[in-house]
Amino acid sequence: MNNNELKELEELRAYKKDRESLVCRLEEDNIPKNKINILGTEYTVELSKKLPDGLDGRTDRTTKVIEVCSTLYEEPKETQLQNLKAYADTVLRHETIHAILNESGLEQHTSELHKEEVVNWIAMQYPKMKKIFEKLGVEE
Ligand SMILES: [Zn+2]
Repeated sequence: MNNNELKELEELRAYKKDRESLVCRLEEDNIPKNKINILGTEYTVELSKKLPDGLDGRTDRTTKVIEVCSTLYEEPKETQLQNLKAYADTVLRHETIHAILNESGLEQHTSELHKEEVVNWIAMQYPKMKKIFEKLGVEE
């Protein structure tokens, strides 16, 4: 891991810690905004009260905004997934992967690689892949 990657990791850890504290005091008109550097491009990560079409998250490559539905960070109702936090993290990973692919020139409407199925697969499996690479000592 080089210095830039290390700095990005530290920023991400600081962001996650900051996000958790911000989510705790989320209010109607005080939606937290956070910045994250994605392959050299600054994105804003926002919690949105309501996204269109029942989406849980979305990435806008034109405005460089990643949105995650704020209700995923609320206490789950009986009818919902009980570990919403884990699901919310997967949603944020999913949207971040969209941004990474976009910033790599692999835009969703033009690239065969940038498909929802591929993005879902990476978002779901990344934590396990990371552990495997760490155990093998080949995470860089
Ligand atoms: Zn998607």
